Amino acid sequence: MSFDEEITTLAQDIMRSRKIVALSGAGMSVESDIASFRGKGGLWEKYDPEEYAHISTLRHHPEKAWILLGAMQKEIAKAKPNRGHYALAELEQLGFLKTIITQNVDGLHHLAGNRDVIEFHGNLQTVTCMDCGHHLSSSEISLDDIPPRCSKCKGVYKPDCIFFGEAIPVEALTRAHQESRTCDLMLVLGTSAVVYPAASMPEIAKSAGARVVEINPSETVLTRFVSDYIILGKTGDVLPKVVDRIKTLKKD
Ligand code: NAD
Ligand code: ZN
Repeated sequence: MSFDEEITTLAQDIMRSRKIVALSGAGMSVESDIASFRGKGGLWEKYDPEEYAHISTLRHHPEKAWILLGAMQKEIAKAKPNRGHYALAELEQLGFLKTIITQNVDGLHHLAGNRDVIEFHGNLQTVTCMDCGHHLSSSEISLDDIPPRCSKCKGVYKPDCIFFGEAIPVEALTRAHQESRTCDLMLVLGTSAVVYPAASMPEIAKSAGARVVEINPSETVLTRFVSDYIILGKTGDVLPKVVDRIKTLKKD
Protein backbone atom coordinates (compact mmCIF):
# COMPACT_ATOMS: atom_id res chain seq x y z
CA MET A 1 0.00 0.00 0.00
CA SER A 2 1.32 3.47 -0.84
CA PHE A 3 1.60 6.17 1.84
CA ASP A 4 -1.34 7.97 0.26
CA GLU A 5 -3.50 4.83 0.40
CA GLU A 6 -2.56 4.37 4.07
CA ILE A 7 -3.79 7.90 4.80
CA THR A 8 -7.10 7.14 3.08
CA THR A 9 -7.46 3.83 4.94
CA LEU A 10 -6.97 5.52 8.30
CA ALA A 11 -9.32 8.39 7.36
CA GLN A 12 -12.00 5.82 6.46
CA ASP A 13 -11.39 3.81 9.63
CA ILE A 14 -11.80 6.99 11.68
CA MET A 15 -15.01 7.95 9.87
CA ARG A 16 -16.64 4.59 10.45
CA SER A 17 -15.67 4.29 14.13
CA ARG A 18 -18.11 4.85 16.95
CA LYS A 19 -15.62 5.79 19.67
CA ILE A 20 -11.97 6.73 19.15
CA VAL A 21 -9.35 6.99 21.87
CA ALA A 22 -5.72 8.06 21.36
CA LEU A 23 -2.73 7.00 23.45
CA SER A 24 0.13 9.47 22.99
CA GLY A 25 3.75 9.42 24.04
CA ALA A 26 6.97 11.40 23.90
CA GLY A 27 7.23 11.04 20.10
CA MET A 28 4.21 13.30 19.74
CA SER A 29 6.23 16.20 21.23
CA VAL A 30 9.51 15.59 19.40
CA GLU A 31 8.45 18.10 16.75
CA SER A 32 7.84 20.62 19.55
CA ASP A 33 11.53 20.26 20.42
CA ILE A 34 10.98 18.19 23.56
CA ALA A 35 13.11 15.45 22.10
CA SER A 36 15.84 15.89 24.52
CA PHE A 37 14.49 14.12 27.62
CA ARG A 38 15.29 10.68 26.36
CA GLY A 39 17.16 11.29 23.10
CA LYS A 40 20.90 11.24 22.56
CA GLY A 41 22.63 13.97 24.55
CA GLY A 42 19.29 14.64 26.24
CA LEU A 43 18.57 15.49 29.83
CA TRP A 44 17.81 11.91 30.79
CA GLU A 45 21.21 10.72 29.56
CA LYS A 46 22.88 13.22 31.87
CA TYR A 47 20.58 12.75 34.85
CA ASP A 48 19.22 9.21 35.21
CA PRO A 49 15.48 9.84 35.78
CA GLU A 50 15.04 6.68 37.86
CA GLU A 51 17.42 8.27 40.35
CA TYR A 52 16.83 12.04 39.97
CA ALA A 53 13.07 11.76 39.44
CA HIS A 54 12.51 9.17 42.17
CA ILE A 55 10.11 10.23 44.88
CA SER A 56 12.59 9.39 47.63
CA THR A 57 15.22 11.67 46.03
CA LEU A 58 12.71 14.53 46.03
CA ARG A 59 11.90 13.85 49.71
CA HIS A 60 15.45 13.42 50.97
CA HIS A 61 17.60 15.36 48.47
CA PRO A 62 15.23 17.90 46.89
CA GLU A 63 18.12 20.02 45.58
CA LYS A 64 19.24 17.04 43.49
CA ALA A 65 15.77 16.17 42.13
CA TRP A 66 15.20 19.81 41.22
CA ILE A 67 18.32 19.90 38.99
CA LEU A 68 16.44 17.63 36.57
CA LEU A 69 12.95 19.02 37.25
CA GLY A 70 14.09 22.61 36.75
CA ALA A 71 15.77 21.74 33.45
CA MET A 72 12.64 19.88 32.26
CA GLN A 73 10.43 22.76 33.28
CA LYS A 74 12.53 25.30 31.41
CA GLU A 75 12.33 23.16 28.28
CA ILE A 76 8.57 22.68 28.53
CA ALA A 77 7.94 26.37 29.21
CA LYS A 78 9.39 27.17 25.78
CA ALA A 79 7.54 24.44 23.88
CA LYS A 80 4.52 25.02 21.65
CA PRO A 81 2.08 22.46 20.22
CA ASN A 82 3.02 21.13 16.77
CA ARG A 83 0.91 20.23 13.73
CA GLY A 84 0.22 16.78 15.17
CA HIS A 85 -1.25 18.24 18.38
CA TYR A 86 -3.43 20.66 16.39
CA ALA A 87 -4.66 17.87 14.11
CA LEU A 88 -5.79 15.90 17.17
CA ALA A 89 -7.60 18.96 18.52
CA GLU A 90 -9.37 19.24 15.18
CA LEU A 91 -10.27 15.56 15.27
CA GLU A 92 -11.95 16.19 18.62
CA GLN A 93 -13.76 19.29 17.32
CA LEU A 94 -14.98 17.34 14.28
CA GLY A 95 -16.56 14.87 16.71
CA PHE A 96 -14.31 11.90 15.88
CA LEU A 97 -11.87 11.77 18.79
CA LYS A 98 -13.33 11.10 22.23
CA THR A 99 -10.34 11.09 24.59
CA ILE A 100 -6.56 11.30 24.65
CA ILE A 101 -4.67 9.23 27.19
CA THR A 102 -1.26 10.88 27.28
CA GLN A 103 1.97 9.80 28.91
CA ASN A 104 3.40 13.27 28.28
CA VAL A 105 3.76 15.76 31.08
CA ASP A 106 4.14 18.81 28.84
CA GLY A 107 0.49 19.95 28.68
CA LEU A 108 0.70 20.44 24.89
CA HIS A 109 -2.55 18.59 24.10
CA HIS A 110 -4.48 21.02 26.31
CA LEU A 111 -2.64 23.99 24.79
CA ALA A 112 -3.57 22.78 21.30
CA GLY A 113 -7.22 22.78 22.31
CA ASN A 114 -8.13 19.20 23.24
CA ARG A 115 -10.61 19.16 26.09
CA ASP A 116 -10.74 15.51 27.10
CA VAL A 117 -7.17 14.59 28.04
CA ILE A 118 -6.23 12.01 30.66
CA GLU A 119 -2.78 13.02 31.86
CA PHE A 120 -1.68 9.56 32.87
CA HIS A 121 1.63 10.74 34.35
CA GLY A 122 0.37 14.12 35.54
CA ASN A 123 1.97 17.34 34.33
CA LEU A 124 4.80 19.72 35.04
CA GLN A 125 2.75 22.87 34.69
CA THR A 126 1.63 23.11 38.27
CA VAL A 127 3.35 22.40 41.58
CA THR A 128 2.12 21.59 45.08
CA CYS A 129 3.97 22.18 48.36
CA MET A 130 4.72 18.81 49.97
CA ASP A 131 4.15 20.28 53.47
CA CYS A 132 1.12 22.57 53.30
CA GLY A 133 -0.47 21.74 49.94
CA HIS A 134 -0.07 25.25 48.49
CA HIS A 135 -0.82 24.78 44.78
CA LEU A 136 0.27 27.14 42.00
CA SER A 137 1.43 27.40 38.41
CA SER A 138 5.06 26.42 37.73
CA SER A 139 5.48 29.75 35.95
CA GLU A 140 5.02 31.47 39.32
CA ILE A 141 8.00 29.82 41.01
CA SER A 142 11.56 31.00 40.58
CA LEU A 143 14.14 28.44 39.50
CA ASP A 144 17.04 30.70 40.52
CA ASP A 145 17.38 28.92 43.87
CA ILE A 146 16.74 25.20 43.86
CA PRO A 147 14.85 23.55 45.33
CA PRO A 148 12.14 26.20 45.05
CA ARG A 149 10.59 26.77 48.49
CA CYS A 150 6.93 27.35 49.35
CA SER A 151 6.05 31.03 49.78
CA LYS A 152 3.73 30.09 52.68
CA CYS A 153 5.71 27.55 54.74
CA LYS A 154 9.17 27.09 53.12
CA GLY A 155 8.33 23.47 52.30
CA VAL A 156 9.55 21.90 49.05
CA TYR A 157 7.37 22.08 45.93
CA LYS A 158 6.60 18.91 44.00
CA PRO A 159 5.51 19.16 40.34
CA ASP A 160 2.11 17.53 39.82
CA CYS A 161 3.56 14.64 37.85
CA ILE A 162 4.13 11.02 38.78
CA PHE A 163 7.61 10.25 40.07
CA PHE A 164 9.40 6.93 39.89
CA GLY A 165 8.31 4.99 42.97
CA GLU A 166 4.78 6.43 42.83
CA ALA A 167 1.59 4.78 41.61
CA ILE A 168 -0.63 6.14 38.85
CA PRO A 169 -3.54 8.02 40.52
CA VAL A 170 -6.57 5.73 40.73
CA GLU A 171 -8.84 8.14 38.89
CA ALA A 172 -6.57 8.38 35.82
CA LEU A 173 -6.01 4.64 35.80
CA THR A 174 -9.72 3.82 36.12
CA ARG A 175 -10.75 6.25 33.39
CA ALA A 176 -7.99 5.14 31.03
CA HIS A 177 -9.03 1.50 31.48
CA GLN A 178 -12.65 2.32 30.91
CA GLU A 179 -12.00 4.39 27.77
CA SER A 180 -9.67 1.71 26.37
CA ARG A 181 -12.18 -1.08 27.02
CA THR A 182 -15.03 0.75 25.33
CA CYS A 183 -13.44 2.30 22.23
CA ASP A 184 -13.60 0.66 18.81
CA LEU A 185 -10.49 2.40 17.43
CA MET A 186 -7.34 3.21 19.36
CA LEU A 187 -4.69 5.46 17.80
CA VAL A 188 -1.26 4.83 19.29
CA LEU A 189 0.81 7.93 18.63
CA GLY A 190 4.53 8.39 19.19
CA THR A 191 4.98 5.92 22.00
CA SER A 192 7.36 2.98 22.24
CA ALA A 193 4.72 1.31 24.46
CA VAL A 194 7.15 -0.07 26.98
CA VAL A 195 6.26 1.98 30.06
CA TYR A 196 3.55 0.16 32.03
CA PRO A 197 0.69 0.46 32.87
CA ALA A 198 0.18 2.98 30.01
CA ALA A 199 1.50 0.41 27.55
CA SER A 200 -1.28 -2.02 28.45
CA MET A 201 -4.03 0.28 27.08
CA PRO A 202 -3.67 -0.86 23.42
CA GLU A 203 -3.76 -4.49 24.61
CA ILE A 204 -6.91 -3.79 26.62
CA ALA A 205 -8.52 -2.10 23.61
CA LYS A 206 -7.51 -4.92 21.31
CA SER A 207 -8.83 -7.67 23.52
CA ALA A 208 -12.15 -5.83 23.80
CA GLY A 209 -12.42 -5.95 20.01
CA ALA A 210 -11.08 -2.50 18.95
CA ARG A 211 -8.82 -1.84 15.98
CA VAL A 212 -5.39 -0.54 16.97
CA VAL A 213 -3.46 1.75 14.60
CA GLU A 214 0.00 3.17 15.24
CA ILE A 215 1.64 6.28 13.84
CA ASN A 216 5.38 6.17 14.48
CA PRO A 217 8.53 6.46 12.34
CA SER A 218 9.66 3.12 13.80
CA GLU A 219 7.96 -0.17 14.58
CA THR A 220 7.33 -0.91 18.26
CA VAL A 221 6.68 -3.95 20.41
CA LEU A 222 2.98 -3.59 19.51
CA THR A 223 3.43 -3.55 15.75
CA ARG A 224 3.47 -7.26 15.05
CA PHE A 225 1.30 -8.61 17.84
CA VAL A 226 -1.26 -5.98 18.77
CA SER A 227 -1.62 -3.35 16.04
CA ASP A 228 -3.81 -3.85 12.99
CA TYR A 229 -1.41 -1.65 11.05
CA ILE A 230 1.18 1.09 11.47
CA ILE A 231 1.68 4.20 9.37
CA LEU A 232 5.42 4.80 9.40
CA GLY A 233 5.93 8.54 9.80
CA LYS A 234 5.96 11.50 12.15
CA THR A 235 2.69 12.39 13.89
CA GLY A 236 3.24 16.03 12.80
CA ASP A 237 3.23 14.87 9.15
CA VAL A 238 0.69 12.06 9.17
CA LEU A 239 -2.10 13.41 11.42
CA PRO A 240 -2.72 16.67 9.48
CA LYS A 241 -2.88 14.64 6.24
CA VAL A 242 -5.42 12.26 7.78
CA VAL A 243 -7.59 15.16 8.98
CA ASP A 244 -7.45 16.77 5.51
CA ARG A 245 -8.43 13.46 3.92
CA ILE A 246 -11.41 13.11 6.27
CA LYS A 247 -12.61 16.57 5.27
CA THR A 248 -12.30 15.69 1.57
CA LEU A 249 -14.12 12.38 2.02
CA LYS A 250 -16.89 14.11 3.99
CA LYS A 251 -17.53 16.43 1.05
CA ASP A 252 -17.90 13.54 -1.43
P1 NAD B 1 9.62 6.83 24.28
O1 NAD B 1 10.73 7.83 24.30
O2 NAD B 1 9.84 5.52 24.91
O3 NAD B 1 9.21 6.54 22.74
C1 NAD B 1 9.01 7.58 21.83
C2 NAD B 1 8.47 6.98 20.55
O4 NAD B 1 8.19 8.05 19.66
C3 NAD B 1 9.44 6.04 19.82
O5 NAD B 1 8.74 4.85 19.48
C4 NAD B 1 9.84 6.83 18.57
O6 NAD B 1 10.04 5.99 17.44
C5 NAD B 1 8.63 7.71 18.36
N1 NAD B 1 8.87 8.97 17.65
C6 NAD B 1 10.01 9.71 17.54
N2 NAD B 1 9.78 10.82 16.82
C7 NAD B 1 8.47 10.80 16.47
C8 NAD B 1 7.63 11.68 15.73
N3 NAD B 1 8.09 12.83 15.20
N4 NAD B 1 6.32 11.32 15.55
C9 NAD B 1 5.84 10.18 16.09
N5 NAD B 1 6.59 9.32 16.81
C10 NAD B 1 7.89 9.63 17.00
O7 NAD B 1 8.35 7.59 24.83
P2 NAD B 1 7.08 7.06 25.66
O8 NAD B 1 6.62 5.78 25.07
O9 NAD B 1 6.15 8.20 25.75
O10 NAD B 1 7.66 6.79 27.10
C11 NAD B 1 8.41 7.83 27.72
C12 NAD B 1 8.10 8.11 29.16
O11 NAD B 1 8.77 9.32 29.50
C13 NAD B 1 6.66 8.39 29.43
O12 NAD B 1 6.38 7.71 30.60
C14 NAD B 1 6.54 9.92 29.63
O13 NAD B 1 5.86 10.21 30.83
C15 NAD B 1 7.93 10.44 29.78
N6 NAD B 1 8.28 11.52 28.83
C16 NAD B 1 7.46 12.59 28.60
C17 NAD B 1 7.80 13.58 27.67
C18 NAD B 1 6.88 14.74 27.39
O14 NAD B 1 6.09 15.10 28.26
N7 NAD B 1 6.95 15.37 26.22
C19 NAD B 1 9.00 13.47 26.98
C20 NAD B 1 9.84 12.38 27.24
C21 NAD B 1 9.46 11.42 28.17
ZN1 ZN C 1 3.92 25.10 51.96
